[in-house]
Amino acid sequence: MRKRVLVYSVSIILVGVFVTAIVSVCVGVSAYLNEKEQSLHLYVRLINQSIAKDFVDGTQLSMTEYADIFSRESGYRITFVDPSGTVLGDSKAGTGYVDMENHGDREEIIEAVQTGAGGSDRESKTFGREYLYAAEIGDGDPDRVFVTRIAMEVNKADIIMDQAIKSALLSSLIGIVFAAILALFYSKRLTRPVREMERRLTRTMDENRKAENIRREFVANVTHELKTPLTSIAGFVETIRDDKSIDEKTRDRFLDIISIESARLGRLIDDILIISDIESGRETNTEGDIDVVEAISEVAEVFAPLAKEAGIGILFDYSYEMHMGGNADRFKQMMANLIENAVKYSNADSEIRITAAKESGRIRISVKDEGIGISEEHMGRLFERFFRVDKSRSKAVGGTGLGLAIVKHIAALFDAEIEVKSKPGEGSEFTVVFKA
Ligand code: ADP
Repeated sequence: MRKRVLVYSVSIILVGVFVTAIVSVCVGVSAYLNEKEQSLHLYVRLINQSIAKDFVDGTQLSMTEYADIFSRESGYRITFVDPSGTVLGDSKAGTGYVDMENHGDREEIIEAVQTGAGGSDRESKTFGREYLYAAEIGDGDPDRVFVTRIAMEVNKADIIMDQAIKSALLSSLIGIVFAAILALFYSKRLTRPVREMERRLTRTMDENRKAENIRREFVANVTHELKTPLTSIAGFVETIRDDKSIDEKTRDRFLDIISIESARLGRLIDDILIISDIESGRETNTEGDIDVVEAISEVAEVFAPLAKEAGIGILFDYSYEMHMGGNADRFKQMMANLIENAVKYSNADSEIRITAAKESGRIRISVKDEGIGISEEHMGRLFERFFRVDKSRSKAVGGTGLGLAIVKHIAALFDAEIEVKSKPGEGSEFTVVFKA
């Protein structure tokens, strides 16, 4: 993968550099020749102006002399011809100009005669080398109309070499910039999955850390919760064993406490096992048919004697039979926790109303009591493990502090939502809404 990207990038860079080099050499050579031709024309015009001035001043020289002077000054070959092409003077031929062939067929001369100025880039017929020519009609003496031509030898190979060096530098610069952009782009693209992995790993690590903290806190809480009844049990057992003088009544009271604490220990262990079973993810909400009315009636019946004893009535309202899929045992467990809480936190001569109804395809089950209620400040923490509004009251009624945590877990298993309404002194209503 990396090798392919590298080969790909290098090829693109090479092609880029090559194309830039060719284009810049062509543009460079043509710009160079153009610029030179412009300066040659300027020379021609200066020469013509100088000759015109001499004519006005009456100090005119011969064309051979002019050719010689201006050639020496400029370093270029200067030729004067008459409009018919007859050579009037030539810096290179000197006095031999008379033997030179007629120049009437030269491109730049033809153009200059026709339009006043002409130029060409061609091989000299006289010297067989490549020259750049600029020619313009001279003014001044109306009896001596002539064309001034200036020729500069061009060595295209030298110009190309010169331009090639410049363009090679330019292309390398462009290539480097191009490569840098490409490398930046590719390195970003290449490292994207790595960065994504890094992000996910950090998130997973954060989640793990959080889960680990929650687990550690839970273990600490569990240890504490188990230790309390155990310490109590151990203490009373020791007292009964060591103190032979304890009267029967006291001994029975101690044995009662031991029995209550053992029962609490048993409930605590049961609740912890339920939570750990659901949390382990081993438990899925195995499909099964739950007869909602039947299941609730069964649970309510279990708590009826306890409620009656406390002077609390349990009512169950439902309009018709309702069924849903899921684990019936878990459903009953959830109902039991809600109904048990309603009984535990209600006062005598009150009522608990259980309602099951179907509302726009959803089954709504609520457990409403007229008990002590919950104040707003505690609402947010109700479903936390081991959270109790009033620890001693919870203990007194045999609470483990895990009932609502289990309700929350089972609701999640059923993909159901929980709503709580409560007012201190007036009562509470816990509602579970099942989606299907
Ligand atoms: P516990 O075993 O202590 O009842 P839960 O998890 O079942 O634990 O409930 C947590 C706390 O929420 C309880 O200690 C109690 O303070 C409060 N609570 C739960 N249900 C009710 C209710 N029906 N009325 C008033 N308070 C309630």
